[in-house]
Amino acid sequence: MQRVTVLGSCGAFPEPGRACSGFAVDWDGYRLVLDLGYATLPRLLAHWPDGGVDAVAITHEHPDHCIDLHGLFRMRFYGRPGRPRLPLYCPPGVLDRLGGLEPDVDLTAVFDWHTLPGTYQAGPFELTGVRLPHFVPNAGVRLQADEIALAYSGDTGPDALLAELGRDTELFIIEATDRDGETQRPVRNLMTSAESGRWARQAGARRLMITHFWPGNDRAAAAAAAAAEFDGEVLVAEEGVAVSLEDSSPVSETFPR
Ligand SMILES: [Zn+2]
Repeated sequence: MQRVTVLGSCGAFPEPGRACSGFAVDWDGYRLVLDLGYATLPRLLAHWPDGGVDAVAITHEHPDHCIDLHGLFRMRFYGRPGRPRLPLYCPPGVLDRLGGLEPDVDLTAVFDWHTLPGTYQAGPFELTGVRLPHFVPNAGVRLQADEIALAYSGDTGPDALLAELGRDTELFIIEATDRDGETQRPVRNLMTSAESGRWARQAGARRLMITHFWPGNDRAAAAAAAAAEFDGEVLVAEEGVAVSLEDSSPVSETFPR
Protein backbone atom coordinates (compact mmCIF):
# COMPACT_ATOMS: atom_id res chain seq x y z
CA MET A 1 0.00 0.00 0.00
CA GLN A 2 1.37 3.36 -1.03
CA ARG A 3 -0.82 6.25 -0.04
CA VAL A 4 -1.10 9.62 1.67
CA THR A 5 -3.86 10.34 4.20
CA VAL A 6 -4.80 13.85 5.26
CA LEU A 7 -4.67 14.32 9.04
CA GLY A 8 -5.39 18.05 8.89
CA SER A 9 -6.03 20.73 6.30
CA CYS A 10 -6.33 24.06 8.11
CA GLY A 11 -3.82 26.87 8.33
CA ALA A 12 -3.34 29.00 11.45
CA PHE A 13 -5.91 27.27 13.72
CA PRO A 14 -8.34 24.41 13.20
CA GLU A 15 -11.95 24.82 12.16
CA PRO A 16 -14.55 22.81 14.14
CA GLY A 17 -14.08 19.10 13.48
CA ARG A 18 -10.87 19.64 11.56
CA ALA A 19 -7.15 19.86 12.32
CA CYS A 20 -4.13 21.85 11.17
CA SER A 21 -1.45 20.61 8.80
CA GLY A 22 -0.56 16.92 8.83
CA PHE A 23 -0.23 14.00 6.42
CA ALA A 24 0.28 10.30 7.11
CA VAL A 25 2.29 8.48 4.46
CA ASP A 26 1.94 4.68 4.24
CA TRP A 27 4.50 3.03 1.99
CA ASP A 28 4.49 -0.77 1.93
CA GLY A 29 4.38 -0.87 5.74
CA TYR A 30 6.68 2.09 6.34
CA ARG A 31 4.99 4.99 8.16
CA LEU A 32 6.09 8.58 7.81
CA VAL A 33 4.32 11.72 9.06
CA LEU A 34 4.59 15.10 7.38
CA ASP A 35 3.80 17.88 9.87
CA LEU A 36 1.84 17.51 13.10
CA GLY A 37 -0.22 20.67 13.61
CA TYR A 38 -3.01 21.29 16.12
CA ALA A 39 -5.32 18.29 16.61
CA THR A 40 -3.48 15.93 14.28
CA LEU A 41 -2.23 13.48 16.91
CA PRO A 42 -5.64 11.94 17.72
CA ARG A 43 -6.17 11.47 13.99
CA LEU A 44 -2.75 9.89 13.63
CA LEU A 45 -3.69 7.44 16.39
CA ALA A 46 -6.99 6.71 14.67
CA HIS A 47 -5.07 6.02 11.47
CA TRP A 48 -2.35 3.89 13.11
CA PRO A 49 -4.06 2.60 16.28
CA ASP A 50 -0.88 1.02 17.64
CA GLY A 51 0.80 4.43 17.60
CA GLY A 52 3.76 3.15 15.64
CA VAL A 53 5.55 5.69 13.46
CA ASP A 54 8.82 5.14 11.59
CA ALA A 55 9.78 8.77 10.84
CA VAL A 56 8.53 12.32 11.20
CA ALA A 57 9.30 15.32 9.00
CA ILE A 58 8.27 18.79 10.14
CA THR A 59 8.45 21.71 7.73
CA HIS A 60 8.73 24.57 10.23
CA GLU A 61 8.30 25.67 13.78
CA HIS A 62 4.87 27.33 13.63
CA PRO A 63 2.45 25.51 15.93
CA ASP A 64 -0.09 24.80 13.19
CA HIS A 65 2.62 22.48 11.80
CA CYS A 66 4.43 21.12 14.85
CA ILE A 67 2.53 21.46 18.12
CA ASP A 68 1.27 17.86 18.18
CA LEU A 69 4.85 16.65 17.79
CA HIS A 70 4.92 17.51 21.47
CA GLY A 71 2.08 15.10 22.13
CA LEU A 72 3.87 12.42 20.13
CA PHE A 73 7.01 13.08 22.18
CA ARG A 74 5.09 12.58 25.42
CA MET A 75 3.50 9.43 24.11
CA ARG A 76 6.89 7.95 23.28
CA PHE A 77 8.62 9.31 26.40
CA TYR A 78 6.03 8.44 29.04
CA GLY A 79 3.89 5.86 27.32
CA ARG A 80 6.38 3.77 25.40
CA PRO A 81 9.82 4.00 26.98
CA GLY A 82 12.52 1.83 25.53
CA ARG A 83 11.39 2.06 21.93
CA PRO A 84 14.01 2.82 19.30
CA ARG A 85 14.54 6.51 18.78
CA LEU A 86 12.30 8.06 16.16
CA PRO A 87 14.02 9.73 13.18
CA LEU A 88 12.92 13.36 13.09
CA TYR A 89 13.70 15.58 10.11
CA CYS A 90 13.13 19.30 10.74
CA PRO A 91 14.68 22.76 10.90
CA PRO A 92 16.39 23.53 14.25
CA GLY A 93 13.60 25.89 15.33
CA VAL A 94 11.19 22.98 15.73
CA LEU A 95 13.41 21.42 18.40
CA ASP A 96 13.78 24.82 20.08
CA ARG A 97 9.99 25.04 20.40
CA LEU A 98 9.78 21.53 21.76
CA GLY A 99 12.60 22.21 24.20
CA GLY A 100 10.67 25.20 25.52
CA LEU A 101 7.76 22.91 26.35
CA GLU A 102 9.99 20.23 27.91
CA PRO A 103 12.90 22.10 29.49
CA ASP A 104 13.79 19.36 31.97
CA VAL A 105 13.90 16.25 29.79
CA ASP A 106 16.23 15.06 27.05
CA LEU A 107 14.53 15.24 23.67
CA THR A 108 17.16 12.96 22.16
CA ALA A 109 15.82 10.13 24.34
CA VAL A 110 12.93 10.02 21.87
CA PHE A 111 14.13 11.72 18.70
CA ASP A 112 17.04 11.01 16.39
CA TRP A 113 17.26 14.46 14.86
CA HIS A 114 18.37 15.27 11.31
CA THR A 115 18.37 18.90 10.29
CA LEU A 116 16.52 20.29 7.28
CA PRO A 117 17.33 21.45 4.66
CA GLY A 118 19.25 18.32 3.71
CA THR A 119 18.96 14.96 2.00
CA TYR A 120 18.63 11.65 3.83
CA GLN A 121 17.52 8.08 3.34
CA ALA A 122 14.33 7.51 5.33
CA GLY A 123 13.15 3.94 4.90
CA PRO A 124 12.18 3.53 1.24
CA PHE A 125 12.48 7.27 0.61
CA GLU A 126 15.19 9.64 -0.36
CA LEU A 127 13.96 12.55 1.75
CA THR A 128 15.03 16.00 0.62
CA GLY A 129 14.25 19.23 2.45
CA VAL A 130 14.50 22.48 0.49
CA ARG A 131 14.50 25.93 2.04
CA LEU A 132 11.47 27.95 0.94
CA PRO A 133 10.47 31.50 1.92
CA HIS A 134 8.32 31.90 5.03
CA PHE A 135 8.30 34.01 8.19
CA VAL A 136 10.55 31.41 9.81
CA PRO A 137 12.80 28.82 8.09
CA ASN A 138 10.53 26.42 6.19
CA ALA A 139 11.65 23.24 4.48
CA GLY A 140 9.58 21.90 1.62
CA VAL A 141 9.89 18.11 1.64
CA ARG A 142 10.25 15.73 -1.30
CA LEU A 143 9.96 11.97 -0.87
CA GLN A 144 11.34 9.88 -3.72
CA ALA A 145 10.84 6.11 -3.76
CA ASP A 146 12.23 4.57 -6.92
CA GLU A 147 10.27 6.18 -9.75
CA ILE A 148 7.49 7.63 -7.60
CA ALA A 149 7.80 10.97 -5.85
CA LEU A 150 5.57 13.13 -3.74
CA ALA A 151 6.32 16.57 -2.40
CA TYR A 152 4.88 18.98 0.15
CA SER A 153 5.53 22.70 0.25
CA GLY A 154 4.91 23.41 3.92
CA ASP A 155 4.19 27.15 4.14
CA THR A 156 5.85 29.23 1.46
CA GLY A 157 5.75 32.27 -0.73
CA PRO A 158 6.26 31.87 -4.48
CA ASP A 159 9.78 30.62 -5.23
CA ALA A 160 11.50 28.99 -8.20
CA LEU A 161 12.61 26.12 -5.96
CA LEU A 162 8.99 25.00 -5.76
CA ALA A 163 9.26 23.78 -9.35
CA GLU A 164 12.33 21.71 -8.42
CA LEU A 165 10.77 20.39 -5.23
CA GLY A 166 7.73 19.11 -7.08
CA ARG A 167 9.45 18.12 -10.34
CA ASP A 168 7.48 15.30 -12.05
CA THR A 169 5.85 14.26 -8.79
CA GLU A 170 2.90 11.91 -8.70
CA LEU A 171 1.35 14.17 -6.06
CA PHE A 172 2.39 17.72 -5.15
CA ILE A 173 0.78 19.01 -1.95
CA ILE A 174 0.91 22.80 -1.94
CA GLU A 175 -0.36 25.32 0.51
CA ALA A 176 -3.17 27.58 -0.71
CA THR A 177 -3.70 29.90 2.24
CA ASP A 178 -5.54 32.57 0.19
CA ARG A 179 -5.30 35.34 2.74
CA ASP A 180 -6.89 38.64 1.69
CA GLY A 181 -4.47 40.85 -0.23
CA GLU A 182 -1.82 38.12 -0.37
CA THR A 183 -0.46 38.98 -3.81
CA GLN A 184 -0.08 42.66 -2.86
CA ARG A 185 2.22 42.01 0.08
CA PRO A 186 5.74 43.38 -0.42
CA VAL A 187 7.31 40.20 0.97
CA ARG A 188 5.63 36.94 0.07
CA ASN A 189 5.54 34.19 2.69
CA LEU A 190 2.31 32.43 1.73
CA MET A 191 0.45 31.73 -1.49
CA THR A 192 -2.92 31.78 -3.18
CA SER A 193 -4.63 28.75 -4.63
CA ALA A 194 -4.10 30.14 -8.15
CA GLU A 195 -0.36 30.34 -7.44
CA SER A 196 -0.42 26.76 -6.16
CA GLY A 197 -1.87 25.67 -9.48
CA ARG A 198 0.76 27.65 -11.35
CA TRP A 199 3.66 26.08 -9.42
CA ALA A 200 2.25 22.58 -9.80
CA ARG A 201 2.17 23.22 -13.55
CA GLN A 202 5.74 24.58 -13.51
CA ALA A 203 6.85 21.46 -11.68
CA GLY A 204 5.15 19.13 -14.13
CA ALA A 205 3.34 17.44 -11.24
CA ARG A 206 0.76 14.83 -12.15
CA ARG A 207 -1.71 15.73 -9.41
CA LEU A 208 -2.04 18.71 -7.11
CA MET A 209 -3.50 18.68 -3.62
CA ILE A 210 -4.17 22.11 -2.15
CA THR A 211 -4.14 22.50 1.61
CA HIS A 212 -3.55 24.94 4.54
CA PHE A 213 -6.87 26.67 4.09
CA TRP A 214 -7.35 29.80 6.12
CA PRO A 215 -10.34 29.13 8.42
CA GLY A 216 -13.57 30.18 6.77
CA ASN A 217 -12.19 30.13 3.23
CA ASP A 218 -14.31 28.73 0.41
CA ARG A 219 -12.48 25.51 -0.51
CA ALA A 220 -14.49 24.91 -3.68
CA ALA A 221 -13.54 28.36 -4.92
CA ALA A 222 -9.90 27.64 -4.04
CA ALA A 223 -10.03 24.40 -6.04
CA ALA A 224 -11.54 26.21 -9.02
CA ALA A 225 -8.83 28.88 -8.90
CA ALA A 226 -6.10 26.22 -8.76
CA ALA A 227 -7.71 24.20 -11.55
CA ALA A 228 -7.73 27.26 -13.79
CA GLU A 229 -3.91 27.20 -13.66
CA PHE A 230 -3.22 23.46 -13.65
CA ASP A 231 -4.26 20.90 -16.23
CA GLY A 232 -3.93 17.82 -13.98
CA GLU A 233 -6.28 16.63 -11.27
CA VAL A 234 -6.77 19.06 -8.38
CA LEU A 235 -7.54 17.47 -5.02
CA VAL A 236 -8.70 19.37 -1.96
CA ALA A 237 -7.23 18.29 1.37
CA GLU A 238 -9.98 17.09 3.69
CA GLU A 239 -9.43 15.36 7.00
CA GLY A 240 -9.55 11.60 6.45
CA VAL A 241 -9.18 11.67 2.68
CA ALA A 242 -6.54 9.27 1.39
CA VAL A 243 -4.83 9.36 -1.98
CA SER A 244 -3.41 6.17 -3.40
CA LEU A 245 -0.16 6.63 -5.25
CA GLU A 246 -0.45 3.20 -6.83
CA ASP A 247 -3.49 3.61 -9.04
CA SER A 248 -4.06 7.38 -9.08
CA SER A 249 -7.51 7.14 -7.53
CA PRO A 250 -8.49 9.02 -4.36
CA VAL A 251 -9.95 6.74 -1.71
CA SER A 252 -12.21 7.96 1.06
CA GLU A 253 -11.27 6.90 4.54
CA THR A 254 -13.80 6.07 7.21
CA PHE A 255 -12.56 7.83 10.30
CA PRO A 256 -14.54 10.98 11.11
CA ARG A 257 -13.51 14.53 10.53
ZN1 LIG B 1 0.87 27.31 8.66
